[in-house]
Amino acid sequence: MFNISRLNKYIIIIIFLSFSLSACRREEVSETKILFNTYCSITVWASQRGGEEAIRSAFERMGEVESKFNIHSETSPLYRFNREGGDIEDDEIANVVKEALEIAGKSKGAFDPSVYPLLEVWGIYGEGSGIPEEKQIEKALKKVGYDNISIENGRVYSAVEGLGIDLGGIAKGYAVDEGIKELKRAGIDSALIDAGGDIYALGSKNGREWRIGLQNPRGEGNMSVFKVSDRAVVTSGDYHRYFEEGGDRYHHIIDPQTGYPSEEVVSATVIGPKAMTADGWATAVMVMGVREGLEAIKEMEEYEVFMITSEGEAVSSQGLDKYVADMNLDLLHKLDE
Ligand code: ADP
Ligand code: MG
Repeated sequence: MFNISRLNKYIIIIIFLSFSLSACRREEVSETKILFNTYCSITVWASQRGGEEAIRSAFERMGEVESKFNIHSETSPLYRFNREGGDIEDDEIANVVKEALEIAGKSKGAFDPSVYPLLEVWGIYGEGSGIPEEKQIEKALKKVGYDNISIENGRVYSAVEGLGIDLGGIAKGYAVDEGIKELKRAGIDSALIDAGGDIYALGSKNGREWRIGLQNPRGEGNMSVFKVSDRAVVTSGDYHRYFEEGGDRYHHIIDPQTGYPSEEVVSATVIGPKAMTADGWATAVMVMGVREGLEAIKEMEEYEVFMITSEGEAVSSQGLDKYVADMNLDLLHKLDE
């Protein structure tokens, strides 16, 4: 039998529980900032306060990565290295360079962090200054070669004069990984970071995999929608930064073999466990093209690729299917027109 005081106790406990439940009720908390010259948004499923704090520390960490890897910033060790040579003594940079060199080796130099002199003559660092003269390209090509970069005990150096390092093809992915680490540290288990096409989806959203749309590289709408959980989805394309001349498109991913922008693939999406690795490979696959790109990704355990070619064809690695929630083939046909 209930006595009154016991019933009161239950009521008090129920009121207390519902108060504390509402205090930590999950909602979507989101913020967008400009980082790496692009919109970067972080969305978390958490309590309002906890979510805001976690996002703040993730942005702070990503901002640190951005400045350290910004080759145009005087405070970046890469800035000095690219102008004066010498050594870079920085474990964090050494680790990213190590990953970059690994991808360079496996992609047979399609991805090459020493592509800096070529990017300079193509004006990629400015507004895109038009097609360079053949001579300029040849001169720049002579300075490119990832084999000339060495790492020893966290020290990056080169014996070759005029060598420059650009980690632009991989640093944004690294920043996303670091942002996610920061969110996890703050107790977040459900989040999405999108740094201008470098995406990581942590956990699930209301018990369902995160849905990620892939932009049509030649217009409006989504080409496809991927469903992922604890995966990076990173896209490189020829439509982010480019200029047009004589009806041709000249974009910011340069084939280190020819010295000219890559051609066959207009958009490459790599899905896998690490955003840094996926980022490097997305750039590599743009340069490698369909056949070589597919072969290389096959060797990369847990990584899959989806490419759209300039002919409007969609090509994917064998394991990609499990991530496809929707594919808009109508848009693909239009690409070809
Ligand atoms: P985005 O920065 O648009 O997301 P990417 O990840 O593909 O695209 O990075 C492109 C950047 O990579 C270029 O702006 C340049 O800094 C660098 N880059 C260009 N070509 C190469 C290459 N062949 N290998 C490595 N890095 C490259
Ligand atoms: Mg990249």
